[in-house]
Amino acid sequence: MQFIETRGNDGVKPSSVSFSEAILSPSASFGGLYVPEALPTIDTAFLEKHLQSHYKTLALDFLTSFGIDIEPSVLQAALDRYDRFDDPSDPVPLSQIEEDCFVSELYHGPTRAFKDMALQPFGYILSQLAQKRGENYLIMAATSGDTGPATLETFKAQVNVKVACLYPDGGTSDVQRLQMVTEDAENLKVIGVKGNFDDTQNTLKALLASEDFKSELASRNIKLSAANSVNFGRIIFQIIYHIHSYLEMVRNGSIAMGEKIYLVVPSGNFGNALGGYYAKKAGLPVEKILISSNINNILTDWINKGEYDLTTRELIMTESPAMDILKSSNIERIMYDMFGAERTKELMEALASEGKFALTAEETECLQEDFSASFSDDETCEMEIAKYAKKGYIMDPHTATCIKAYETLREKPLPTVIYSTAEWTKFSPTVAKALGHPVEGDIEALQWVKEHADVTVPKMIDELFEKPIVHTVVVEKDAIKEEMLNFL
Ligand SMILES: *Cc1c(COP(=O)(O)O)cnc(C)c1O
Repeated sequence: MQFIETRGNDGVKPSSVSFSEAILSPSASFGGLYVPEALPTIDTAFLEKHLQSHYKTLALDFLTSFGIDIEPSVLQAALDRYDRFDDPSDPVPLSQIEEDCFVSELYHGPTRAFKDMALQPFGYILSQLAQKRGENYLIMAATSGDTGPATLETFKAQVNVKVACLYPDGGTSDVQRLQMVTEDAENLKVIGVKGNFDDTQNTLKALLASEDFKSELASRNIKLSAANSVNFGRIIFQIIYHIHSYLEMVRNGSIAMGEKIYLVVPSGNFGNALGGYYAKKAGLPVEKILISSNINNILTDWINKGEYDLTTRELIMTESPAMDILKSSNIERIMYDMFGAERTKELMEALASEGKFALTAEETECLQEDFSASFSDDETCEMEIAKYAKKGYIMDPHTATCIKAYETLREKPLPTVIYSTAEWTKFSPTVAKALGHPVEGDIEALQWVKEHADVTVPKMIDELFEKPIVHTVVVEKDAIKEEMLNFL
């Protein structure tokens, strides 16, 4: 299987690349992204075959049918990372919250957010490729909370890959910050930046674009890669859990094989939803993918009106910070798939130069064949958290955005899977507040929710508060480059 480019080819880069090339150097011609030339088929025979399969068996078979240039032994070892999840026999459990509504919990990995689903196996594969080629890679990430910890955790002590992670000082939760600054390994660097997430991200972009920094890297024989969801190496692992959720619904008797379900996806950069779209396109019986957002609801407008307009918006900080995103990177892959490279290039260039684009009426209809969308504000999410806590289920604020989508967007009474993208322990102050007990810090919130909602706090969260802090650097924006060069 080869990978091609969402904005067409510039005549300089190769017109198609292998999977390993697409993940080591994820930027394609004209600033586009890599996408698979075709998708494998998920038909009834494939689903029947895996009705009793373990998650890893299903995953290995799916990855093999994708025909990617990674050795089976490396894929197997990458998937063994799921053995680090709470229950190695069932890394992605499904919980019922309504007669026809189930929560697929994607957060049972080491950093308690769904980023582990893809980053755990991806990190192993990237490091193996780097070693095999005798190359050294630097991955730089600006994080507002979940990507940073998951990226550090997957590359910790891996050979031939260094990771530098920038976070806005004071802009993350206590748990998220501790997950980063206690991460102890020689190949990891964590830098607090004075400023908000936008400042942090812009500083990183400027640094990565500067010739000066590039030549410093070249002189040290270090190549740059990326671990955000522009990297197809993450997306491929995000197709699999949609198949798994479907099979779980068959296993628990909610549907017969072949019957359709709805998927509800709390979205930001649209990687999770893109995985669902590819699964649907490959043949998984999905009626529609319902996209939920917070009040940064640019995706709601994109799907409901065909409009994508940054010029009228400012990013608003919400209680679901991992979805506080206005430039959603993976919608480009959807538009490529539906409208082709030429049109995608045109739309993405309009977005870059004018800050907006608009789809035609036919294009919007096409989008609406696969997607519907709604959004919830913080008050609504708190209400949903409280409502389900009463019924005995504790969900985090990102997951809570799904409830309104589930209640209002379904056109048919089909069983539904909503995705839980983080454990409540990562956002415990919001959960405590929703349950009527606002507190200041994470420690108090974790303790209070644990006592009042009959839930446990996993060991890796509890231990964070005792672990030594190894990364103490907090700097002004203009000092980042020097810190980086010291590290390298
Ligand atoms: C990253 C993240 C999301 C958004 O996922 P995308 O694939 O970027 O759409 C939602 N919830 C949580 C908790 C996340 O960490």
